Amino acid sequence: MGLFTKDIATLDDLYVHQLQDVYYAENQITKALPKMIAKATSPDLKASFETHLTETEAQIERLKRVFEMHGLSPKAVTCPAIDGIIKEANETAGEISDKQVLDAALIAAAQAVEHYEITRYGTLIAWATQLGRENEVELLAQTLAEEKATDEKLTALAERKVNADAEMA
Ligand code: FE
Ligand code: FE
Ligand code: FE
Repeated sequence: MGLFTKDIATLDDLYVHQLQDVYYAENQITKALPKMIAKATSPDLKASFETHLTETEAQIERLKRVFEMHGLSPKAVTCPAIDGIIKEANETAGEISDKQVLDAALIAAAQAVEHYEITRYGTLIAWATQLGRENEVELLAQTLAEEKATDEKLTALAERKVNADAEMA
């Protein structure tokens, strides 16, 4: 694929490619979150990650429905961006000995993931709208709302407690 011909010719092709990218990303996130839950110390942070793991599993099912609505089977294409965000998070976490400082780092890493997802779903919604795919827009918007809510919850948790606890370390 892509060696002699370019695979993305139309906006629809680009939209499908982006769906496949985010499908890969969500699957990587379901593998990363259990490790983040294990590393987190704050009970509130652990609970937030657990909630978002459940949401992420539902988001994957939602994406499968979007593929179906589009007449396609779910397919993943490697997303180097999410792989990089997760790799960087693991490298940083590996350098931290204090549990409270680690919690602050875990929140920062999780928010990098949420922001990546927010930009991707925002674009997918814009393209699905342009392509007249209202049913798909509806599902993608549900996921975008969850990503934004998670991001805000993490900001509140950091500012209310975790950053202050980390400073005391
Ligand atoms: Fe997600
Ligand atoms: Fe990507
Ligand atoms: Fe998310």
